[in-house]
Amino acid sequence: MISLHGLTKVFPGGVRALDGIDLTIGDGEFFALLGPSGCGKTTLLRTIAGLETAGSGTISINQRDVTCLPPGRRNVAMVFQDYALFPHMDVTENIAYPLRIRKVPRAERLAKAADVARRLSLSELLRRRPAQLSGGQQQRVALARAIACHPTAFLFDEPLSNLDARLRLEARTFLKRLQRELAVTTVFVTHDQAEALALADRIAVMSRGRMIQVGTPAEVFQRPATTFVASFIGSTPMNLLPARAAGGSLYAAGAVLPAPAGLTDGDDLVYGVRPEYMDLSPTERPDAFPGTVSVLENLGTSTLVTLEEGGTFVQAVVDEGDEPRLGDHAWAVPRRALVYRDGELLAP
Ligand code: ADP
Ligand code: MG
Repeated sequence: MISLHGLTKVFPGGVRALDGIDLTIGDGEFFALLGPSGCGKTTLLRTIAGLETAGSGTISINQRDVTCLPPGRRNVAMVFQDYALFPHMDVTENIAYPLRIRKVPRAERLAKAADVARRLSLSELLRRRPAQLSGGQQQRVALARAIACHPTAFLFDEPLSNLDARLRLEARTFLKRLQRELAVTTVFVTHDQAEALALADRIAVMSRGRMIQVGTPAEVFQRPATTFVASFIGSTPMNLLPARAAGGSLYAAGAVLPAPAGLTDGDDLVYGVRPEYMDLSPTERPDAFPGTVSVLENLGTSTLVTLEEGGTFVQAVVDEGDEPRLGDHAWAVPRRALVYRDGELLAP
């Protein structure tokens, strides 16, 4: 278990990379830290690892306060984006390196390295150096090195981002299976929302050194707490349409919709609908967004349709075979919506 309390980090020059982080990660949990570049993900991971000192706040791992311990005494393994393998060492030596540091006898560490290598399908490559390996193989060596020393936690900093798209998907599945098998608490940093949704038991969405929302992938996807999270999560961006309330109804992008309770006329509102929760109707309806089909994007088994009306764009995902034609007039009917006031989700 990893507990963070009031963690703050200000770099010389005044960048507040961590701004009061409170977080508890459960034993064996696969936890993703998600956020745009520069939001403080790497700094948080490095602070947990002890490679960066916290300005204030505490870190405990398995009930032990490690805030002031050096990295070597925290028993966590970090895997970096660039793998950080030693170029002059072969695969076995790379995997066994942390064991050498811990003064594990040679025969034992070679046996251990061979065992972990077998698990990660690296047995054929033990004598090669990193330069003689593909990106995916290097990544598995970095994982093997992390596993070899039986850490209490894995800290992964965008470990898949240097792989090409196809390999990246395979490595993702592999990583998830491995984490389930080992049941080691894992903190996984990514800027890729699909990766976070696919891998994690829970996700923390970060922005400017703060946690904006912590929840399961389903919670974060279905009920993004702010418009920032809403715009960040989802393979197609959520429609976020400026809206206003008047006389018990909500007016947004040419549609008249039922308004949630407790709104005041003149509130600053946003009506949010995922393109997946938008149906297309060929006929006019007052509770739908009208527009002309201006873009069709093939998503494989579905199509992303963009409707345009007076400079406003509304997107809907339609099933294979149901696509309208470019230039058609259509109405997008929201099936499921969220309403935000001042950027924050309103309870339904
Ligand atoms: P992320 O991993 O989410 O992209 P980082 O944790 O690397 O973000 O950086 C968070 C912020 O802290 C950024 O504004 C970055 O420029 C700044 N930062 C990171 N490392 C340092 C450093 N060693 N010195 C000064 N500023 C830093
Ligand atoms: Mg980073």
